Amino acid sequence: MNTRRRISLVIPFYNEEENVDNTLAVIGKVIDSTRYDWELVAINDGSRDQTLAKLHAANPENFELVVVDLSRNFGKEAALSAGLSQASGDAVIPLDADLQDPPEMIAAMLEKWEQGFEVVLARRSDRSSDGFLKRQSAEGFYRVMNRLSEVKIPDNVGDFRLMDRRVVEVVANLPESRRFMKGLFAWAGFRTTSIDYIRPEREFGETKFSGWKLWNLAVEGITSFSIAPLKIWTYVGFLVALGAFLYGSVVIARTLFFGIDVPGYASLLTVMLFMSGLQLIGLGVIGEYVGRVYLESKRRPPFVIRSVEQRGRKSA
Ligand code: UDP
Ligand code: MG
Repeated sequence: MNTRRRISLVIPFYNEEENVDNTLAVIGKVIDSTRYDWELVAINDGSRDQTLAKLHAANPENFELVVVDLSRNFGKEAALSAGLSQASGDAVIPLDADLQDPPEMIAAMLEKWEQGFEVVLARRSDRSSDGFLKRQSAEGFYRVMNRLSEVKIPDNVGDFRLMDRRVVEVVANLPESRRFMKGLFAWAGFRTTSIDYIRPEREFGETKFSGWKLWNLAVEGITSFSIAPLKIWTYVGFLVALGAFLYGSVVIARTLFFGIDVPGYASLLTVMLFMSGLQLIGLGVIGEYVGRVYLESKRRPPFVIRSVEQRGRKSA
């Protein structure tokens, strides 16, 4: 009888043809197939290059390869969700296709898992592989996010982590279709520990996340986990009303003591522009949330799977 526990690695691939062979080879080398059964769930997130063909051609020896083909590009968050829904392991570890989440860390994660932890975070102790701007903006994001949100998202932790089956069940079965995975993982809770690693440079190819995409991911994260940006407008309103009241009193007093002076064009225009600016910002923030309520209310699935194929070693 086979009582060995099963570990699933979940890797989203989007136009990663240069990385497929190398990444599968490196993983084949580092995993310990004497102690566990291994499964690698590769999600092809609508790649337009040879990624899918390369995944289908692969024939790994010491792990089972499950190739999940999505019907188009749904983005990394959705691709990860698709992978989690297909992963069958007792523990699941998402990794990036470019080896920026070093598979060498897996052994250390499993050790912590064996000690009874249900979540093992891999924390980047060093971000020097990211540019100055990306580092600063990431730091700013975590600061704002954790101030606004009740769910604390550990900083310098990406999607690279080990999760016990229990955690995966919770996250995979969440009903929401817009998925900020880092936040959902953190929301799930469970006994958590972390280990440190140094994030290496991307192996081949280039990053799929432009500044604009990252900005949208940040907005998604904040709006998914906090309604503080909505509530703030009540207080802004109060402050502005108080200011208006004080200024109004000054104007009335001045008129009573010194008579009417008509000129006031500059101050009038300034206040008007300032106020319309504030109102538009408030409306925009409300729009962000209404838009999300709208999208969520359609209940479309977060991803569509075209096919699931299995390669390589079947478990005994
Ligand atoms: N990715 C994806 N769908 C996308 C964009 C990216 O599945 O629409 C995958 C990509 O193939 C990689 C991972 O997400 O495995 C991280 O992407 P990348 O390395 O470009 O991000 P970075 O490390 O620069 O933040
Ligand atoms: Mg990368």
